[in-house]
Amino acid sequence: MSTPDSPAPSDFIRRIVAEDLKNNKHGGRVVTRFPPEPNGYLHIGHAKSMCLNFGIALEFGGKCNLRFDDTNPEREDPEYVQAIQDDIRWLGFGWEGEPCHASDYQEQLYQFALQLIEADKAYVDSLSQEEIRLHRGTLTEPGRVSPYRDRPVEENLDLFRRMRDGEFPDGAHILRAKIDMASPKVIMRDPTLYRIRHAEHYRTGDAWCIYPTYDYAHCLSDYIEGVTHSLCTLEFENNRAVYDWVLDTLGLHPRPEQTEFARLNLNYTVLSKRKLLQLVEEGYVNGWNDPRMPTLSGLRRRGYTSEAIRSFCEQIGVARRDNTVDIAHLEHSIREDLNRRAPRAMAVLRPLKLVIDNYPDTLVEEMEAINNPEDASMGSRKVPFSRELYIEQDDFLEAPPKNYYRLAPGREVRLRYAYLVTCVRAVKDSSGQITEVHCTYDPDTRGGTAPDGRKVRGTIHWVSALHSVAAEVRLYDRLFLHPEPGKEEEGVDFTSHLNPASVEVLTGCRVEPSLADAQPGSRYQFERQGYFCADTEESAPSKPVFNRTVALRDTWAKQEKTAGGS
Ligand code: ATP
Ligand code: MG
Repeated sequence: MSTPDSPAPSDFIRRIVAEDLKNNKHGGRVVTRFPPEPNGYLHIGHAKSMCLNFGIALEFGGKCNLRFDDTNPEREDPEYVQAIQDDIRWLGFGWEGEPCHASDYQEQLYQFALQLIEADKAYVDSLSQEEIRLHRGTLTEPGRVSPYRDRPVEENLDLFRRMRDGEFPDGAHILRAKIDMASPKVIMRDPTLYRIRHAEHYRTGDAWCIYPTYDYAHCLSDYIEGVTHSLCTLEFENNRAVYDWVLDTLGLHPRPEQTEFARLNLNYTVLSKRKLLQLVEEGYVNGWNDPRMPTLSGLRRRGYTSEAIRSFCEQIGVARRDNTVDIAHLEHSIREDLNRRAPRAMAVLRPLKLVIDNYPDTLVEEMEAINNPEDASMGSRKVPFSRELYIEQDDFLEAPPKNYYRLAPGREVRLRYAYLVTCVRAVKDSSGQITEVHCTYDPDTRGGTAPDGRKVRGTIHWVSALHSVAAEVRLYDRLFLHPEPGKEEEGVDFTSHLNPASVEVLTGCRVEPSLADAQPGSRYQFERQGYFCADTEESAPSKPVFNRTVALRDTWAKQEKTAGGS
């Protein structure tokens, strides 16, 4: 039963943790960990894992370690170590003390390996990689034992020490667990525990030339840190057998326990660090924090709030089975959040000059504009109004179709927060392009309503030509056109499904003067256009640059419906 004080655990993992606490399974402790490998930036999938691991620690009065799973010297980099910490803090989580590093456990892991060898539970194999692969067998055939499997313990100890001392080149030997080459679980056919790698490690330098495998290092790192609940994604379900074998064979207590949950998959998105790295390295995007990237730094730069990301993670929940989440859910959560929080502003993205012929030449009026209709406490601001304005090019049509209620010859519309204006004529250049629209205004309609009660259907936004500020606006869209990038046919690379129009850069925009010095990172709703965020890298005082976070409505849903219906 749930009470207001102790709401029912909301997913199966939280139920397990609650049950374990009730049964005093881990001595009443809850310790989780978030174990990124510092070989790339964190992405929205990691946010799900963080909300789970850090979230459970917070909810159950436990702790969650940040552990860098850094025992692969080749692709790890201190830049990633820093970025990962920044992203975790930004998302709103923290860890106790210094971050942990699996590379700090090298000596302990080595000692545990010696124990396994002494117990005749591990041996040095000297087959080549290819031979080992051939010996492994298949799902239907058992593996074959290596001729080195029965090396005496003393010989194994000697060889393993010499591996550590750097006597052998890469690939000459490996240390393997001695489990069962006929196990129906292929992973249990004497899995590799250590490899020789003569490589510079970003923290330990050349102190080590043997490195533990994930399966060996992960369970022991959990044990060393006193982790109780080791939560990982479903791909590691098979690995649990090795996890348990290592800890049980070494007789380690108290023992962490691994539980798997479904990773986050998002359509129109790739969430593999290898692929994200490829996008960066091959220049498809401008770095890990490109606003089109699903990385936390990319989403942040795009204008996503940490609250929206956490709320998204909460809503999608944590399940046992893999599924794919529609990216529209993510877009929905940022719209919800920004609708409540983002001040409104007027910005004209593709300007067309509008001249009010009967408006006094030198007059400037300050129009009162509401900052957020969802939140009266956000107040209002003054926007200067004058004879020459800019409106959106597509808010005027010479020959309007049915259902078009914006400006057209002879048509009256409302200029938001200002006056009703009626179009008298359009000016064209020699090529027939409309360069100016002329209107007259009704001075009795200040604020946008006519005293005689006449109805005007269209309301358009505007900025004063003289007072507005030039701005650059980048309209971002989904990075991929295909819901499952790379999945369509065999042999199609995911990059072939990139959206060639994932960004449109508009350099001639005009924004209301209050946006001139928009703080980098500040977010707005540009009326009728969407949510935008001043770019943290390139926006500067009087030269603002805005990134579109998301349009006001889901334009893809409509396209998909049309595409699906045809
Ligand atoms: P990738 O497959 O993208 O390279 P990874 O799993 O190797 O990711 P790690 O740095 O090892 O990346 O991940 C740290 C933690 O985040 C792991 O516990 C992992 O299970 C979790 N994680 C990674 N991707 C996702 C995802 N898409 N959904 C949920 N959790 C994830
Ligand atoms: Mg990993």
